Amino acid sequence: MAKQFKKVIEKVDDGGKALIKDLLGDNPTRGFDLDSVYCINNQYYVIELLFCDVTKNPWPRDSHPSRYFIDDKRKFLSLWEITKRLDGRLILINYEATHSEYKLMEVSQCTEVGIQTKDDLVVNKEGMIRWFQALNNHDYLEILELNKDEYRIKCPQCGRSLVFRRGKEGRYKSFWGCSGYPECKTIIKTR
Ligand SMILES: [Zn+2]
Repeated sequence: MAKQFKKVIEKVDDGGKALIKDLLGDNPTRGFDLDSVYCINNQYYVIELLFCDVTKNPWPRDSHPSRYFIDDKRKFLSLWEITKRLDGRLILINYEATHSEYKLMEVSQCTEVGIQTKDDLVVNKEGMIRWFQALNNHDYLEILELNKDEYRIKCPQCGRSLVFRRGKEGRYKSFWGCSGYPECKTIIKTR
């Protein structure tokens, strides 16, 4: 393996960002960071990580990127523009502080009105590791290939998979129920 592929990310390099802050002073930035870009077999993948602060906002499973779009429209439009110019694919990943739950989403369209996604899937950490390491090994895994029991979020009571359900009416519009129902009646309501 070529030497440059052996580099391990040991620490976050924020030095460049600190320099930009120093240079701009109180002026707001008109640039933005790209989280990660991969080129696999001549196909570009633009990866953007979206932090979900679950103390204030929904969990990754419930958080639609349009939530961020309101505050950060210019960034998303720019990300989409870059992706199109690269003839690439834009993948958004919701995550939260404990790194236990993720939502992977491929963007199909982004306009002034908002973001549309096509494939999306909620996965646990094992699923996320599987997907990201495949990407890192230049073997892109389609999001829906992670649609397997081992990568689903598990019930906190019995450890079986949780299933996302949409209620027609009743107490909750949508919720996560245990796949062990009716033996296990765990319900995690969504916000
Ligand atoms: Zn259960």
